[in-house]
Amino acid sequence: MSDTANTNAQESTAGLDFIRTRITEDKAAGKYDSRVHTRFPPEPNGYLHLGHAKSICLNFGVAQEFGGKCNLRFDDTNPLKEDIEYVDSIRADVRWLGGNWEGREFYSSDYFDTLYAYAEQLILAGKAYVDSASAEEIRERRGTLTKPGTESPYRNRSVEENLDLFRRMKAGEFPDGAHVLRAKIDMASPNMVMRDPTLYRIRHAEHHRTGNKWCIYPMYDYTHCISDSLEHITHSLCTLEFVNNRELYDWVLEALGIYRPQQIEFARLSVTHTILSKRKLIQLVQEGRVRGWDDPRMPTLCGLRRRGVPAQALREFCARIGLARADSTVEYSMLEFCMREYLNAHAPRVMAVLDPIKVVIENYPEGQMEEFVMPYDPEDSSRGSRTVPFSRELYIERDDFRLDPPKKFFRLAPGAEVRLRYAYFITCTKAITDEHGKVIELRCTYDPASRGGNSPDGRRVKGTLHWVAAAQAVPAEVRLYEHLFAMDNPNDVPEGQSFTDLINPDSLKVITAYLEPSLRHAPVGQTVQFERIGYFCRDADSTAEKPVYNRTVTLKDSWAKVEKKG
Ligand code: ATP
Ligand code: MG
Repeated sequence: MSDTANTNAQESTAGLDFIRTRITEDKAAGKYDSRVHTRFPPEPNGYLHLGHAKSICLNFGVAQEFGGKCNLRFDDTNPLKEDIEYVDSIRADVRWLGGNWEGREFYSSDYFDTLYAYAEQLILAGKAYVDSASAEEIRERRGTLTKPGTESPYRNRSVEENLDLFRRMKAGEFPDGAHVLRAKIDMASPNMVMRDPTLYRIRHAEHHRTGNKWCIYPMYDYTHCISDSLEHITHSLCTLEFVNNRELYDWVLEALGIYRPQQIEFARLSVTHTILSKRKLIQLVQEGRVRGWDDPRMPTLCGLRRRGVPAQALREFCARIGLARADSTVEYSMLEFCMREYLNAHAPRVMAVLDPIKVVIENYPEGQMEEFVMPYDPEDSSRGSRTVPFSRELYIERDDFRLDPPKKFFRLAPGAEVRLRYAYFITCTKAITDEHGKVIELRCTYDPASRGGNSPDGRRVKGTLHWVAAAQAVPAEVRLYEHLFAMDNPNDVPEGQSFTDLINPDSLKVITAYLEPSLRHAPVGQTVQFERIGYFCRDADSTAEKPVYNRTVTLKDSWAKVEKKG
């Protein structure tokens, strides 16, 4: 699906993961006529998140690597929770990640007629029956892991009676919960899933696609395998919690005598500091704990996108975490590493001051302004440049000045000389403080011979600072994010608390920063590097008067790097 995915497949031929190994073997053996056809089957009941990214990269990636296909299938069998808003967002997110379903967009609800006909077929074969017991009775008769279930008194109804009842369920003659259709398998099976699972239930509810045509809806386990079969999927890749459902998956297709894909399970992704349960993510949105599904603190794909995380970084993340057959938790810092790696190579570098302190260059003529041409990438001039104004009054980062500098502090201090990036050497002559002793302004002199930031006489300065011209700088709202959950595992909620109690109160801090003027009209969605600070993405809330930037990720070792490049 991507250059990255391709490279990884090639690079790791020797160490293919267990799914790719399996598919390689199936292909070589001519299984499924050596075809590879996967699907990504989201239920449209929420927005996609990091966990889905793993599944998207796997399904679309495998299809691409093996010259196969991948379908997008909306698994929309629950009329109560699904919504067209989710369908649209899922499409946009899959596309953004690079998944291409080439028009093969399917809906489980498209198969409702077929699923119904197959259910009658199971009844006719004596493999399904209508149970009129209450939900509670059915639960009680299921037994436990150590105790076999007991058969329902309705289990041995005649084919005719079952067919009649099922048709009347469909016709709307019964209220919700009056009957269910169950597979007739084995109430004593050691696999609980096989103890006469429910195939259909009555739900008098409008469906977002089929309207009021149906008042019975098929269950996931029944629908999923048949949908896979109808689409001629070869490898049905799903997460580990479906291991026990595989027996049922195979049973249904076997009982119907139709084409059978191979289900293979892999470990679900979990990430530190992150909640990936749709139910909980919906709660965060509905209770207004975040600004919406695409709040940049959310682990949703639209949130990550708004935050400025490149799709390439997410794909690299999915490639790096690999596939396993046992659940484990991935460090969030691994995702940050992938962001930095991509953005370091691709994000234009610009200057912005987040916490300003004013600098007045006393020997620079009042009213004078000059412009410096600065490359977007100091190591690659082909990536273009912009001009940045310089004048007598500037802002630098408050943290770049110390009245009383510790040893090895190479930035600005009284009497110290530093380089202003691409501009001049300046020396601090005086710090002006307010009545509380807080520094409010620095007086400096500059060396006109150091124009461009080059040493005029071989004398060295160790510190290079970023800066903006005070009069020309563009004030911007900058949103600084921390983890929404400060603790490693927010799924581990202490007794008597709700997971929303664990929300980090400092996860969003809004400040006013000063940007170089080239950013005034930057495009929404562009992620840039504020030199020495981090990566920031232009938010859709921006106006030309007031740009808004989201911090994507901080710069690690920023100081060391600038020092080296000087
Ligand atoms: P939830 O349990 O939060 O409702 P889900 O698994 O039911 O999530 P679906 O929309 O059914 O969500 O998922 C679509 C696909 O994405 C499925 O194939 C599922 O296995 C996969 N998927 C969902 N979450 C993860 C995850 N954390 N890691 C890997 N794959 C996932
Ligand atoms: Mg699901």
